[in-house]
Amino acid sequence: MPETLPSGAAATPSAAARSAVARRVTDADVRAALYALADDSMEGRFTASPGGARAARYIAAQMRAIGLRAAGDSGFFQRVPVSITNGYMPHALESFAAWDTLPADRRGMAVNVVGVLRGQLADSAIVVDAHYDHLGVVGRGTCRTNSADSICNGADDDASGAVAVLEIAKAMAAAPRPRRTIVFVTTTGEEVGLIGTRWYIAHPVVPLSDMTANLEIEMIDRPDSLAGGPGRAWLTGYDRSTMGEMFAKAGLPIVPDARPCQGFFERSDNIAFARAGIPAHTLSTFDLHADYHRVNDEVQLANIPHMTAVIRAAAEAVDILANGPAPHWHEGRKPAPTGRLPLAPGCSARR
Ligand SMILES: [Zn+2]
Repeated sequence: MPETLPSGAAATPSAAARSAVARRVTDADVRAALYALADDSMEGRFTASPGGARAARYIAAQMRAIGLRAAGDSGFFQRVPVSITNGYMPHALESFAAWDTLPADRRGMAVNVVGVLRGQLADSAIVVDAHYDHLGVVGRGTCRTNSADSICNGADDDASGAVAVLEIAKAMAAAPRPRRTIVFVTTTGEEVGLIGTRWYIAHPVVPLSDMTANLEIEMIDRPDSLAGGPGRAWLTGYDRSTMGEMFAKAGLPIVPDARPCQGFFERSDNIAFARAGIPAHTLSTFDLHADYHRVNDEVQLANIPHMTAVIRAAAEAVDILANGPAPHWHEGRKPAPTGRLPLAPGCSARR
């Protein structure tokens, strides 16, 4: 990966500098953003839906207030054309040209929301991302229910990650200018097949060859006892690259994923970046709770102090990735561009 400065110039930020970044993340800001994105008015943030568009506008307004540079093709929005079947079900398209050939009632438009914090180096950058889309409402989306509640609010999945992206952006924008450019992306279409991330990778706002790392944040609003409880998180594919070791060396409360048989490394947006060759991992505290992909994934069940602590750790992790040495894949552990990954050792079947 390119480095304009000699590698000796990349020093891991000091603990004092990192904690100054972490302290800018507050319970009050985390709570306000999570309650906004998981509100019923967002209608479960389904891809290419009015509720999804409302969530995207909220995120763009936050990015503007933080002072990020708008990096989409329409302000902070990176338009993602989709084809719609059955009135709501979006499918990926290769191009706007393909979209143009569709009848009007099958043309859908989703958006990623992309903001950039410019670094000192001309050719080195990282991506911090989370998906903001979720399952929508019963009958318009893939939300299922057996109660009176008809909205899948997806507070944990993944409003919590989108909040983390915004809070990390806020903390890093107030810090001294980072060495590397940081691209903050909240993606659409994760729940319907990583549509937004795949579009982003085909249309990156900074060349993928300049990308030294991707950190994704997914489901962090409840503590996981296997990660050590409140304030602690796990990283998928921990043993694949040096990223986790870098965080451990800095004393961050981030441990290996304790459930490798779940295949989490390849179940979220990070896998698309990893298959593009970029050291890419997901930070999470998902404990396999029963409210996953149900109407019960409600904001009232969020543990805000836990979530704030995890976002603080994630902000320190981003500080390290933006200013320290670049992580690299361990020998033979970089995923192939295509094909299913082999099961983790000791796993008899996936999931
Ligand atoms: Zn998710």
